[in-house]
Amino acid sequence: MIKYCDLKKINSAYGAELQEAMLRAIGSGWYILGSETRFFEEQFAEYCGSRHCIGTGNGLDALTIILLAYRENGAVKEGDEVIVPANTYIATILAIMHAGLKPVLCEPSPKRYCIDPNRIEALITERTKAIMPVHLYGQACDMAQISTIARKHSLLVIEDAAQAHGAIYNGKRTGNLGDAAAFSFYPGKNLGALGDGGAITTNDTQLADTARAIANYGSQKKYVNKYIGLNSRLDEIQAAALAVKLKHLDRENARRREIARLYIEGISNPLIKLPQIADYSSHAFHIFAIMSAEREMLQEHLRASGIETLIHYPIPPHKQEALKSFAHLSLPITEQIHREELSLPCNPSMSNADAKQVIAAINSFKGGIIN
Ligand SMILES: *Cc1c(COP(=O)(O)O)cnc(C)c1O
Repeated sequence: MIKYCDLKKINSAYGAELQEAMLRAIGSGWYILGSETRFFEEQFAEYCGSRHCIGTGNGLDALTIILLAYRENGAVKEGDEVIVPANTYIATILAIMHAGLKPVLCEPSPKRYCIDPNRIEALITERTKAIMPVHLYGQACDMAQISTIARKHSLLVIEDAAQAHGAIYNGKRTGNLGDAAAFSFYPGKNLGALGDGGAITTNDTQLADTARAIANYGSQKKYVNKYIGLNSRLDEIQAAALAVKLKHLDRENARRREIARLYIEGISNPLIKLPQIADYSSHAFHIFAIMSAEREMLQEHLRASGIETLIHYPIPPHKQEALKSFAHLSLPITEQIHREELSLPCNPSMSNADAKQVIAAINSFKGGIIN
């Protein structure tokens, strides 16, 4: 059986290093906002090429806190609009709503599945204050075109980089491609903690200071509360684990790209649409997403061949019960992606033989035709 993502295998590769880091954090007697978190924040900021990194409790909070900080700084106000890809994971949209802002859903490009820059300008109104591109599946969005539109209309650009740790766009890493960025360290992400975690990166010192305070009860000085804050901090134990795993991230991403290359070279079934890699980007392959009009049948065929796959995601955000007020929208590209997407196992613990088994199983898929 080839598992979709074997976290036990991925993390046990660093077992001794992780244990040493955990024991150090435990032995310190200091578990929140201490030296482990500070060290990881410095390392991750340097890795992304950004001036600041602020650890948070998870990726959703990282996104929400960025927006709350912009509200506190006066850059956005309640009811302002934020343009977001309609096919994102629901977290991006929830963050906008939690911050008292209005998500405006934009169709993705049918080729690369990231927000379609050519559709953004038609959605801009006088209330639009930001664009939130999501580097979906691990591939950076077309940031040059997005930044040009943002500059023209004085909009903020806030990256959702939760699926794209280490992805590169024209020589720069995600997390340093807009005004601010949010990351998730959910265990299954390319840089995964041993529990929940997240981070904000930015070059904007005022935003960083406000966000750091909001994540810590709105407080810059103990028991003095400047903002209506949250409690959302990256804890010492998670930070210690993340600092270990960050050292291996580039190698792991390179291995993901190797598996992806084997797939792209080996899969020749005309019933399958393979992902397209933009020449500007170094794809982090958090998800190797293929499209098939017969997705359910293909998933069953792969299961019968001993291959576990996932669907990212079965229901588009605007069709979720939680987002009923968006249900009337017509978003055919988004809906097609949610109907056809299938995620193949693509992670650093796989062998070339695993990849070849996946390729053979996909190439033997005949679809619904009688044979
Ligand atoms: C995982 C994810 C998030 C949320 O991260 P959590 O740490 O689970 O809160 C946000 N956006 C995208 C695109 C994600 O994939």
